[in-house]
Amino acid sequence: MRILVVEDERRIADFLGRGLQGAGYAIDVAPDGATAIQFTHDTDYDLVILDLMLPDMDGLKVLERIRGRPSGPPVLILSARGQLDDRVKGLENGADDYMTKPFAFVELLARVRALLRRGQPTPERLQVGDLVVDSLRRKVTRGAETIDLAPKEFGILEYMMRNKGRPLSRTMIVEHVWDMDYDGLTNIVDVYIRHLRSKIDDRYPEKLIHTVRGIGYMIEAPEKSANKPESGNPMHAAG
Ligand code: CA
Repeated sequence: MRILVVEDERRIADFLGRGLQGAGYAIDVAPDGATAIQFTHDTDYDLVILDLMLPDMDGLKVLERIRGRPSGPPVLILSARGQLDDRVKGLENGADDYMTKPFAFVELLARVRALLRRGQPTPERLQVGDLVVDSLRRKVTRGAETIDLAPKEFGILEYMMRNKGRPLSRTMIVEHVWDMDYDGLTNIVDVYIRHLRSKIDDRYPEKLIHTVRGIGYMIEAPEKSANKPESGNPMHAAG
């Protein structure tokens, strides 16, 4: 899940960025309206958190541009303007929610999760083989066992589960789970996949995470119908 924070106040942007990253989201920060419009043009965000008072333009203009596209991300306005008509104007212009500064981070996070859920066409319960990810409660189980994952591990696994059976390049994984600063550091994906495998695959006979040579990784359950005689030659070797 990738979130764009449009905020010119460095202190608030840092606070939001740290908090949301800690919750497992990838964050980009745009310090002004023009950058925000550019970013939303270049990248598919899952959510935009939008300040209204920006140095170069009214945040409502940014909202207008995002809403002008057919399948734009949900927008949460986060603004110091608490007046009723700003709130109404924001919602009338297509914002999905509105919060007033100062705000409690836990409340913001709850609303962010609610919006992401709403914009999510895929179910919150993802399953591959006996591995189940409850993306709402951020809970992972394999069979009867609960598995604890760090936020980034969870982010990678959730992304792979949403794209099960589809090979994902290291760059795709980095772009979905990390922030722009990590561009080019695709080796980090290998490190995290190793961690993930040690938690969800190593102790189980059926491996779910597969290395796709020349591309990256894919998650997929071994095919039940391909139940060939047990010749000790597994189709999907972990590697
Ligand atoms: Ca501002």
